[in-house]
Amino acid sequence: MSRTAFTTIDFDKPGKQIGFVMIPHSPHDDAWGVTRIPIAVIANGKGPTVILEGGNHGDEYEGPITICELIRSLDPGQIEGRLIMMPANNVHAVMSGTRTSPVDGLNFNRTFPGDAKGTITQQISEFVANEVFPRGDAFLDLHSGGSSLDILPSTVLEPTDDPELHKCNVAAVRAFDAPLIVVVSNYGDTRTATAAACKAGLTTIGTEMGGGGTVRTEVLEICRRGVRNVLAHLGVLAGKAVAAPCGKAPLFHLPGAKAFVYATGDGVFEPFHPNGQSVKAGEPAGRIHYTWDPAREPEVLHYQADGIVYGRRQPGRVKPGNCCLVVAAPYEGDIG
Ligand code: CA
Repeated sequence: MSRTAFTTIDFDKPGKQIGFVMIPHSPHDDAWGVTRIPIAVIANGKGPTVILEGGNHGDEYEGPITICELIRSLDPGQIEGRLIMMPANNVHAVMSGTRTSPVDGLNFNRTFPGDAKGTITQQISEFVANEVFPRGDAFLDLHSGGSSLDILPSTVLEPTDDPELHKCNVAAVRAFDAPLIVVVSNYGDTRTATAAACKAGLTTIGTEMGGGGTVRTEVLEICRRGVRNVLAHLGVLAGKAVAAPCGKAPLFHLPGAKAFVYATGDGVFEPFHPNGQSVKAGEPAGRIHYTWDPAREPEVLHYQADGIVYGRRQPGRVKPGNCCLVVAAPYEGDIG
């Protein structure tokens, strides 16, 4: 069986089209229906093809808002090349405001390169990997922290072994001009959209734009400005960047497992520091209260790395293994 997904747009047609990737989907209440993943293409003349993704996780909102604004506001005359814009890629998750898809329970960002014969989420990532990425020169994957984490607004650099691609990624990440840059390897997971895009040779830029399952105007503004900056840098958006990138954003990375403070008990987590606070390995990071067991003392958790608090869990309630805090460590050396 080959792919059953199809599109209502023509990737090669000049001008502006707004449509859908359609994946035949046959649940109980809709025998011959489709899942519709929104897609817009704006193409004009010669230039690079840049892919914008939002809604990889359905509870991260700055990226989808920014991409939808661009879809409505940009005219072909402003484009030199082609924009492929997908604001709500895991569309069932986007519509339910959840990280994972309510249809198959999957985290889209752990399904690449996807499967044309798999579940709906796997079919979406297969389409992106095999129909969208091969048409692209660059890929922006716009994330936020989601419902469970609030993360400092930042651009994310995906590690790659290809030195030329690394240079392109660094330049594009700097061009976004976010307050900081963080190298994130996701424990080396190759099933993410950005890892798959890098493997396909695309210049790749990730973001973490706040989170906590909410939208903040000041963070949305960083996202809007950063996306336009990158599009101008890549040469696909006519005109100059909104503000010349200063190139001075501090560099951090997530130092492997040491970056994370995981809950060890079933209770209520009290963090000791706000995002952005400088912290040291061994310092108390917070404590878990056992509010239904008053004789039991709270359990203190400790940081495992020197750095800054990059992300904090939002719900107070924790279970063992939950990520309570994320520490980003200063990146040693140059990123190119
Ligand atoms: Ca995310």
